[in-house]
Amino acid sequence: MSLFYYAEKRMSVSGTRLVHNAGCPNLPEARERIFLGSFLHMGFVVQAANIWYFRAGPCLLCLARHRRE
Ligand SMILES: [Zn+2]
Repeated sequence: MSLFYYAEKRMSVSGTRLVHNAGCPNLPEARERIFLGSFLHMGFVVQAANIWYFRAGPCLLCLARHRRE
């Protein structure tokens, strides 16, 4: 199942932006996030974001939620 993914507008101290999927409790408000698109897997999103946009890293909560599903 593919999900919608978003990146945080705010950069972390390490200069990366966290990527969340829709429904993550840590997902920032609409004006604080960048829509990345619909992807099958967090790994693909982070890879695509790194190529097209900025240094990105997965939200660990999203990863944990994904593993359980
Ligand atoms: Zn998240």
